[in-house]
Amino acid sequence: MTLEAESKSIAAQFDYSDGDVNKAVKEFLRQLDEGLQKDGTSLSQIPTYVTGVPNGTEKGLYMAVDLGGTNFRVCSIQLNGDTTFNLTFSKVAIPKELMVAKTAQELFAFLAKQIELFLKEHHEDHFEQHVRRRMTISSPDGFRDEHVFRLGFTFSFPVQQIGINKGTLIRWTKGFDIPDAIGKDVCALLQEEIDKLHLPVKVAALVNDTVGTLMARSYSSPGKTGTVLGAIFGTGTNGAYVEKLSNLKKSLSGEFDKSTGEMVINTEWGSFDNQLSVLPSTPWDVALDKASTNPGIQMYEKRVSGMFLGEILRLVIVDLLKNKDVAFFKDENSSSNDWKSTTNIVADSSIYKQWGLDTAIMSVAAADGTPELSTLRGELENQLGVHAAGLDDAQAFKSIAFAIGRRAARLSAVAIAAIVLQTGKLTDPANQDEPIDIGVDGSLVEHYPYFRDMIYEALAIIDGIGPEGAKRIRIGIAKDGSGVGAALIALVAAGME
Ligand code: ADP
Repeated sequence: MTLEAESKSIAAQFDYSDGDVNKAVKEFLRQLDEGLQKDGTSLSQIPTYVTGVPNGTEKGLYMAVDLGGTNFRVCSIQLNGDTTFNLTFSKVAIPKELMVAKTAQELFAFLAKQIELFLKEHHEDHFEQHVRRRMTISSPDGFRDEHVFRLGFTFSFPVQQIGINKGTLIRWTKGFDIPDAIGKDVCALLQEEIDKLHLPVKVAALVNDTVGTLMARSYSSPGKTGTVLGAIFGTGTNGAYVEKLSNLKKSLSGEFDKSTGEMVINTEWGSFDNQLSVLPSTPWDVALDKASTNPGIQMYEKRVSGMFLGEILRLVIVDLLKNKDVAFFKDENSSSNDWKSTTNIVADSSIYKQWGLDTAIMSVAAADGTPELSTLRGELENQLGVHAAGLDDAQAFKSIAFAIGRRAARLSAVAIAAIVLQTGKLTDPANQDEPIDIGVDGSLVEHYPYFRDMIYEALAIIDGIGPEGAKRIRIGIAKDGSGVGAALIALVAAGME
């Protein structure tokens, strides 16, 4: 078989038809509702105790930290009260060994240390003042309440939230695995380590990054009705939306303001359809899942998010390299029997290792419109050690990568559509002609070329939305979503103290 024919046949296995998309939206709506009725369902539908979205007039100085996946971000945010803000931030990669540390304490001590370094670098005066005050005042922690930073802790893993700054970890995702932390209150774990360093910081709110994205988008682009959904397409994927309290049948343990009649719900949609009743499954999806730290769970996320798309592609590529009948990245001069030595890829290429292909190169492939695919071929050489890739090799790589990316975008549209339909805003006469605002964040949706276009293309063929409905859905990037959003939730929490 020619390489072109083989790559076309592989790409076709990633097709996700209009009919499949519509079937999945119906199933998403069913699982969404099931999660509102009871615990332990596919979509966790976690109540967040946040009962409204901002309108852009909120003010004050807050801190926010974000443990999201690849990086830990620390920031301070000045909300100016006019839909604008000033943000100072630092970012550090999470050391791989801490993602699988023996004890939660090791990870949280590292996080507290980063907060200390940030305060020393960006708020030295403030910090010094408090350290001095601490030495002269004999109250337990020594800091005057008005000088304590309220911190919003964005923790983007499934958490059973029991209050605005209290929540126990249900399970790790995205490659983290510290069994000791399961069932513990992650705010208390962080506060303990902050207190050990005597920092003037109070963990005021536990924030899921999707809720932060929703709040941040609503603050910066307030419309008549506020933003309805915040969604992440980065290392992982998830969404949080505004639900009517009357639809939420599960019992709620914490205190909250019932006057708005609404609550933000964290769907944890990464685990949509773990039973694979409507999700597509190729041999490479199966192989990826089998080799993962959490087989059988986060099945939607494993087909949609940045952490996994590159790995699906890598598994396809390795299979193609092993295929003796297809000339793919072949070293013409080799007569070896070992498949690795017959390729023109360096022996220690990361292509041979799990997670060795970063999804970012899929964006390079999609963006490369040059006739010779020279940018992509350059990246294949730099990142994966492919010597002198042929044009046909690069074309095969590009078409398979694109098929995987397109399927991810169409699956993303399933979740977005289901939530738009769930809110009933498209048909609500009070909301006529108003845009349905959605805030998104994450490298995939920000940097993968045409990702949003492909989402819109799928939205237009969904029953109950159609081309007219798709036009009313406004998907916008929530810049610095997690930082500003966390600050806004810390503000809400401070009001509840
Ligand atoms: P996080 O979700 O950890 O907060 P990001 O939103 O930056 O962080 O997402 C990181 C993920 O996005 C990684 O899995 C990475 O492979 C992927 N990624 C990074 N850059 C790009 C890009 N240009 N195109 C597509 N995916 C990307």
